Amino acid sequence: MNRCIPYPKCSLPTTLANSLFRFTGQALLSWLLFSGLAYHHPCHAWGFFAHKHINRLAVFTLPPEMIGFYKHYIIYLAENAINPDARRYAVKDEAPRHFLDADVYDQIYGKGRAVYELPRYWKDAVEVFTEDTLMAYGIVPWHIERMKYRLINAFEAGDTKAILRISADLGHYIADANVPLHTTENYNGQLSGQIGIHGFWESRLPELFFEGYDFFVGKATYLKNTQLAAWDAVILAHTALDSVLSFEKTLTTRFDESRKFTYEERNKITIRTYSRPFSEAYHQMLGGQVERRLRASIKMVGDFWYTCWVEAGKPDLNKLLDKEYDEQKDQELQEEKEQWKNQEIQTRPHEIALATDPHHPNPAPYLPKSNRNCCQYNPLPNYYKKFISTAKNER
Ligand SMILES: [Zn+2]
Repeated sequence: MNRCIPYPKCSLPTTLANSLFRFTGQALLSWLLFSGLAYHHPCHAWGFFAHKHINRLAVFTLPPEMIGFYKHYIIYLAENAINPDARRYAVKDEAPRHFLDADVYDQIYGKGRAVYELPRYWKDAVEVFTEDTLMAYGIVPWHIERMKYRLINAFEAGDTKAILRISADLGHYIADANVPLHTTENYNGQLSGQIGIHGFWESRLPELFFEGYDFFVGKATYLKNTQLAAWDAVILAHTALDSVLSFEKTLTTRFDESRKFTYEERNKITIRTYSRPFSEAYHQMLGGQVERRLRASIKMVGDFWYTCWVEAGKPDLNKLLDKEYDEQKDQELQEEKEQWKNQEIQTRPHEIALATDPHHPNPAPYLPKSNRNCCQYNPLPNYYKKFISTAKNER
């Protein structure tokens, strides 16, 4: 089997139009159906709520030499845990850093095999698939490794601002890599008639059941190979995917529409969301899965921060506390945050997260304009799927 098919960069193989249509038809139909009619809600990986808690709790895994510094900036680390999501529609190339559509590559490696067989290192992956293709299907495990080197550099330079900023960002990407729905092209159940499951699993469930979770994850440990650790997270997340989707399907047969969903008011807007009884039943069926992925995220964030610090020669972080960093006085960061509000980059419709109502006449008023109907106007997902399909046909 030729696994080293170079993917065309920017040309469309017209001869495959028919087979491509078959391949993309289901997804396209689903997107078109929901993009114009659905009640969209911009939800984020793990939800803002969970991301903040993951970074915050990771601080407590650190050794005495580190914990003073990280605790001092714990509010910064929690609040800025969501920056990568905040900028994903404003910064080019940001979006793919949050996911890996592993199952797209299953067409080449065999069902369920891609997470184990995709090239572990970025250079090798680019050689096999080209950067364009990798960017189209997500790069989270490779990006985590890139961020590791940045954090080591920041420690070596004794640059407080960079240490904080990169630590917060790295925590975000690590947490994303641990989410099952971040490892599939069916990231919001849009290919299986389960639209809304993304936000259900990673926002609604943690928000409802967080209080009951045990977050004692132990002390951060040194990682001999961070790149493989990132892949381990993706593998575990992907292994959990089948339950995430199939359990929701099973339960849906036991709950009629009026019991499955409810209406709640948030920020003075009434939204349709999964009912408490349905959420409880699903959460119980998952048997602690959300808690396990959250715990794994927290431990892994601590492990990475600690490993970077060790790799940088264990610099004395207490010295850095002398020159205190004040986020509010960081003009550059504040200006950047302002710019992130101009969300003009179209990416895959990753954020259609809450339960959708195909009969709802209006899209959510607080969804940035550029993201409304993003599925309909964004040609990228289908465009790139064609390349994968081509590779499969030429094998
Ligand atoms: Zn994210």
